[in-house]
Amino acid sequence: MLKKLIQSIRSPLRRPRAVRTTPEVVGNHQHSLRREQFSRNAVNVVERLTKAGYQAYIVGGGVRDPLLGIPPKDFDVATSATPEQVRAEFRNARVIGRRFKLVHVHFGREIIEVATFRANHPVTEDDDTNNAHASRNEAGRILRDNVYGTLEDDAQRRDFTINALYFDVTGERILDYAHGVRDIRNRLIRLIGDPEQRYLEDPVRMLRAVRFAAKLDFEIEKHSAAPIRRLAPLLNEIPSARLFDEILKLFLSGKAERTFELLNEYELFAPLFPASAKALKDDPEYAGKLMRQALANTDERIRLGKPVTPAFLFAALLWPALPARVLKLQDRGMPPIPAMQEAAHELILEQCRRTAVPKRFTIPIREIWDMQERLPRRQGKKADLLLENPRFRAGYDFLLLRESAGEETGGLGDWWTDYQEASDGERRGMIRNLASQQEEGGSAAPRKRRRGGSNRRRRGPRTEGASSE
Ligand code: ATP
Ligand code: MG
Repeated sequence: MLKKLIQSIRSPLRRPRAVRTTPEVVGNHQHSLRREQFSRNAVNVVERLTKAGYQAYIVGGGVRDPLLGIPPKDFDVATSATPEQVRAEFRNARVIGRRFKLVHVHFGREIIEVATFRANHPVTEDDDTNNAHASRNEAGRILRDNVYGTLEDDAQRRDFTINALYFDVTGERILDYAHGVRDIRNRLIRLIGDPEQRYLEDPVRMLRAVRFAAKLDFEIEKHSAAPIRRLAPLLNEIPSARLFDEILKLFLSGKAERTFELLNEYELFAPLFPASAKALKDDPEYAGKLMRQALANTDERIRLGKPVTPAFLFAALLWPALPARVLKLQDRGMPPIPAMQEAAHELILEQCRRTAVPKRFTIPIREIWDMQERLPRRQGKKADLLLENPRFRAGYDFLLLRESAGEETGGLGDWWTDYQEASDGERRGMIRNLASQQEEGGSAAPRKRRRGGSNRRRRGPRTEGASSE
């Protein structure tokens, strides 16, 4: 299927449309950026490199975001110095890099990432024979790109016009090679060069387009948007570890709900979460509500500066995919609880093949799900033991999340809300009352006996998205 898709794509053997060779120089009377606004450390790095005779600029989000009045996440520096030359200038510098070499200059907790100008190695007919540095696969995807280049080359190989703005700290000028300032004004995400070719070179750019559109509240320019749906399956080729990193950026940047809408709109969600996408298709109301609520809660927690964990998020995104699997195993004669365990195991394994979720998250995902089995069992000392469980909080939040999506739990969320606030005596009474009722048994595997959603005001802490670990 992928092969067919790649064949159907126009030949990538074309050079990307060149960016301007001389930049538009935006002087400090034409923009609002002042050097004092930048991280002292980033400015120091640039000045030090400049004094040593190299070219150096702040680039990327560190220029784009301040132009929009947004505090940047971090500062990237682009320079003509090679990684070794950069390292020689700083005591606190480390050369790192999987896909390409970078230098991290450490200042306490702040890290300034310094990258040497690189060229977007053009695909040419003699690529196979005469190319020691960059290599591409049959679709034109860049597999290695450590070809150093000039500032102009560096501007051309960047993804979006708004990410190819270079801030000259000394002159407080912006060097704009690709009309990035204009696109910032028009609030557009636009790829540099031929969109299809740039996505083929690196399909993750499709995710980045969506991420920046959500983060900045920009539109994806129509030519940059057009090929995405068709090329979305190319994400299947991306190493699972890189996709996991991208997912964290997509969902933990404070705009997860909007990001989710865009991922679905551009059909990028399915290659990231195949089972979840299927569940979303099969039961859009329940699955959509649960996923959106989890993402909205995550955004809210980030806004409030509360900690968030990817485990809760993955637990929520995958949960709606469980019931079909549990039922399938039960149909084959497996009892409910083992069926739930087996389905959970398989689902996580499958997801890890796509997006390498590290063990430190898969374990809590399972614990949050296991907790859903245990929360209904409250007899004797069980309720108090559960309260002491380090995973109780996340499990309880997850229960409220399920209820808010319309799952029927027999008022379990309210019961636990009350129980946490009750005195010892009241708690004993609550447990006694349970004894007179029939204790819920069986599997807590997602059962969707839906109801209209409870309007009862919760007195306890509210559902919390990706709750603290
Ligand atoms: P943020 O840090 O807020 O996520 P950013 O734009 O700084 O946004 P980074 O991932 O830090 O993004 O990358 C820094 C810069 O490197 C980008 O602005 C872009 O110019 C370039 N870049 C990063 N990833 C790619 C890519 N896949 N293809 C081309 N250029 C890229
Ligand atoms: Mg950055």
